[in-house]
Amino acid sequence: MKDFGVVLTMRPTNKTAAMVMAKGFEYQPDKKINTPHHWDAPQQVRPVPKNTQDLTGLRVGRLRVIGLLIDKPLWLVRCDCGKYEARRSKSLKNERNSGDRCEICRHHNYLMMADEFRRTGQNKIYGLHTDQKGAAK
Ligand SMILES: [Zn+2]
Repeated sequence: MKDFGVVLTMRPTNKTAAMVMAKGFEYQPDKKINTPHHWDAPQQVRPVPKNTQDLTGLRVGRLRVIGLLIDKPLWLVRCDCGKYEARRSKSLKNERNSGDRCEICRHHNYLMMADEFRRTGQNKIYGLHTDQKGAAK
């Protein structure tokens, strides 16, 4: 049996072995996000007015409501993947919107659905968790 250090210094024998031994890379989607309401960092929120229903903490699909945006009549939501987006209160209260997610997760969902269809020839809907929808406080 060879010494482990000797194995690490060995060069790969062909292209496949080189790909297996090489360092991995993160998938970067080439999807262009057209909405201006998509952020990597949290945005400023303002206190909820008295005549407005407080949706803070509400969970819709993969989104969690953080608060009201400071300059727009929109709610700031955080996706499970860590991205931030804005939603109207009407879309947050919509019962049929239980599979809501950010643009990146929507793109990943599309890729999974396309791959499932390529492999099996059947359309499968991912991630519609109706039981995850919480109630507003
Ligand atoms: Zn997401």
